[in-house]
Amino acid sequence: MPTLSPKESGWIEVICGSMFSGKTEELIRRLRRAQIAKQEVGIFKPSIDSRYSENHIVSHNKMKLGSQLVENAGQIPKLAEFSEVVGIDEAQFFDNSLVDVCKQLAARKKRVIVAGLDKDFMGHPFGPIPALLAEAEYITKTLAICMVCGNPANYTQRLTQDTDQVIIGESDIYEARCRNCYEGLYTAPVS
Ligand code: ZN
Repeated sequence: MPTLSPKESGWIEVICGSMFSGKTEELIRRLRRAQIAKQEVGIFKPSIDSRYSENHIVSHNKMKLGSQLVENAGQIPKLAEFSEVVGIDEAQFFDNSLVDVCKQLAARKKRVIVAGLDKDFMGHPFGPIPALLAEAEYITKTLAICMVCGNPANYTQRLTQDTDQVIIGESDIYEARCRNCYEGLYTAPVS
């Protein structure tokens, strides 16, 4: 995390990693600290992700913060007009226009904190996250714990044979895996 915070300037922070790695918890922690400091905070997530709650971002451990659902990244600048700090969760579900939106927000001296999956279930870079990593001043990579062997986990294993990139689910169809235990397209265990 920043030891030298920019003055009179915006910047971009990215929190990324696999599912179950605590990305949203870390996002909520940073946003809460900003709220405690009485900074104006705007929080957004794509409307595709209404898993837990329409109006909140919620971590797996049930921390939550009020948020606004948006159809696309282009809606964020107007909604965040008066925000000093802008939080964006599940950013992998936005298209690449999110990168320009984040640059625009940072240019308006806002602190932009983006959380999202860096890789999809096939292990490929996910949506706008790779380009955001190139643009960000600060990057935090969160690791989960491999459900098979207990090593640090950087992959999201889908436990069904669906091949769509986006299938909304939780621990019912996904688990965190390390690079050794991750198998890409799932093959059901022989019983
Ligand atoms: Zn493992």
